[in-house]
Amino acid sequence: MSESPIDKLRRFIDKSDAIVVFTGAGISTESGISDYRSQGGVWERFQPVTIREFIADAGKRRLYWQRKLALYEQNKDAGPNPGHLAVVELERRGKLLGLITQNIDGLHQQAGTSPDKILEIHGTNQEVICLSCQEIWPWEHAYERLIKGEEAPVCEKCGGLLKPNTISFGQSLNAAVLNRSFALAEECDFMLVLGSSLVVEPAASIPRVAKQGNSGAWLAIITQSATPLDGLADLKIAASIGETLSAALVAPS
Ligand SMILES: [Zn+2]
Repeated sequence: MSESPIDKLRRFIDKSDAIVVFTGAGISTESGISDYRSQGGVWERFQPVTIREFIADAGKRRLYWQRKLALYEQNKDAGPNPGHLAVVELERRGKLLGLITQNIDGLHQQAGTSPDKILEIHGTNQEVICLSCQEIWPWEHAYERLIKGEEAPVCEKCGGLLKPNTISFGQSLNAAVLNRSFALAEECDFMLVLGSSLVVEPAASIPRVAKQGNSGAWLAIITQSATPLDGLADLKIAASIGETLSAALVAPS
């Protein structure tokens, strides 16, 4: 009898002890957070504000914060789902080398994955940063001022512009975070991609390095859409992340 995709996934998990999980928007859509790239997503409705515009144009800055606030109100009740909890279970079993995420929603931390295992390559909405002195505060620091009517909060220490600590359009990725991500790809024995269409570079190269680099890791992709690495992967499953991983994490009946 041939091995089912779930059995194969279970075998990869059981035989690995240095798993790197790579997550994208698809794991958060299972929590009800809309994929901002999909049809009707935020990017279709709004022209993005680039980092250059944010710094130079007070009107664009106000617009940016209005959208952030609207998105926050829309998503604030969303919590981790079985997909996020499956990653926590991998750590509990001592198998999680690291978690690389394109998501900025903080749901992996909320689920219980150790913060020191998590690399947020696109930054996080859970913090705001001063673009001048680099001081970082929790999101609530800006939120409380926004709901009181401030349109674009500034730093209390230096008067610089505050911005959510995410990578905006036109802003380069954090080199240290990216380097660490590629290092993890070289060290892992199993790269598990969850809910990423793997089209945004250079992040999409990370799973390729795991498969084709020195580690020669297994590569499994659980993503509803087709990805450029499907042909390279040892396993591709186009189904619910939560359901698939929940099934793979229990012993076969
Ligand atoms: Zn400052």
